[in-house]
Amino acid sequence: MTATLLQNARRAGRFDGLVDVLLDDGRITAVVPAGAAPSSSSTTTRQAVDLDGRVLVPGLWDAHTHLTQWALVRHRLDVSEATSPAHAAALVRARVHGATTPTPQGQPLVGYGFRWAGWDTEPTAAALDEAVGDVPVILLSGDLHSAWASTAGLRYLGIHHHPTGLLREEEWMAASPRIVTVDDDVADELVVDAARAAAERGVVGIVDFELADNLTDWRRRLARGWGGLRVRAGVWEQYLGEVLEAGLADDDPLDGAAGGLVTQGPLKVISDGSLNTLTAFCFDAYAGATGEDAHGILNIATDQLAPLMSRAHEAGLRCAIHAIGDHANALALDAFAAAGARGSIEHAQLLRADDVARFAALGVTASVQPEHAMDDRDIAEDLWPDRTARAFPLADLRRAGVPLALGSDAPVARLDPWVAVAAAVTRSRDGREPWHPEQSLDLRTALEASVDRRSLDLDVGGPADLAVVDVDPFAVDPDGLREMPVAGTLVAGQWTHRAF
Ligand SMILES: [Zn+2]
Repeated sequence: MTATLLQNARRAGRFDGLVDVLLDDGRITAVVPAGAAPSSSSTTTRQAVDLDGRVLVPGLWDAHTHLTQWALVRHRLDVSEATSPAHAAALVRARVHGATTPTPQGQPLVGYGFRWAGWDTEPTAAALDEAVGDVPVILLSGDLHSAWASTAGLRYLGIHHHPTGLLREEEWMAASPRIVTVDDDVADELVVDAARAAAERGVVGIVDFELADNLTDWRRRLARGWGGLRVRAGVWEQYLGEVLEAGLADDDPLDGAAGGLVTQGPLKVISDGSLNTLTAFCFDAYAGATGEDAHGILNIATDQLAPLMSRAHEAGLRCAIHAIGDHANALALDAFAAAGARGSIEHAQLLRADDVARFAALGVTASVQPEHAMDDRDIAEDLWPDRTARAFPLADLRRAGVPLALGSDAPVARLDPWVAVAAAVTRSRDGREPWHPEQSLDLRTALEASVDRRSLDLDVGGPADLAVVDVDPFAVDPDGLREMPVAGTLVAGQWTHRAF
């Protein structure tokens, strides 16, 4: 095994000189002043890499992803800005010729979001053929009720003669399964590619809440050879039996290999809906809503949640309970208390003050997605006008001592922890006024909530999971955190991304 000596590194937020960091056997084994040769316990060869004053931070984690969905969606081209068929075709051509995320062999380029109702001319297959030739292209309309395909795209859908290339309503519904579902080989290839892209942003690990048989899917990926990203594979109730039967508890490697990168994650349960669909379960009715669902919808009966969590807890699994409305959060906390379970509440978007304190008392992690606050601030003002002061209450959680974990909920937001950190710190995007800035996090807290609760000071003995960034996050304008330049990433001491 080769040890790696990272020379001339700086530590984030510390301006006390350069250090050398020795990585051996997948761990950080020494942090010493630059030039003071650290002693290595093993007699391995040593590879030195000069970081030239770049900043080393613990590798980043995304605590909430749907990785396969993200892997699919990130290849889709956004054509929602197109104002004509020619404009959309030009966007397609630019993507085909300048792709940073090439479409896998044999797969169509899928775009989404075009709105042709306002266009002067109708979309045609010929317009796309003219732009990209024999490349299969399929664009989904903004309302998903129609699709527009190139001739090769039509062929991919099994349609050999079509008068226009614009498939509407039933015609599209009949053809769409070919696009909406992909087989395992394709999904796995896309997931590998998504993991590579995550590494380019300094990511070393994710929690995967894909709504799927994750044990089977990840064992298959491990068997094919998986590297580059740690994964905690969540389990849904319908697949819990298999996980229990396999005797897997928290953080057990799914392939049984010591130091395995893919480990057992928590039981995931959805307890309510979402803000945008007025289904997050709240104590107070949504503004303007009447009728029996005016408070939102609970997805699991209160007398079923705690027993389900007990079952997982007794088997050594954490629980990750989706709860967005304040009432759903209160009930989820009740269930944590009743089951004696450990774990997290996912989202925690609206909380009563008493329940913030209960998070802390029960040691339940608030697994939050700060960028959702930026996406949903306007709808929150519309639907929760009387309560946005306690919506996405990151600072309240922090002050109460609640463990925080930041995530993206990709594909809802981009799988990029720097985006989550920036949103948490600035409560702002695109130059808008900060939204409830009193609920923002300080940068140190936001970073620590994005590195699996490791120390920013690079503790000796910890895993050699690291990101190399070109500038100190504490020295940049907070808006600039979104585009933090990442020069390198290591998982267990192995480079998963290196751009210097
Ligand atoms: Zn999710």
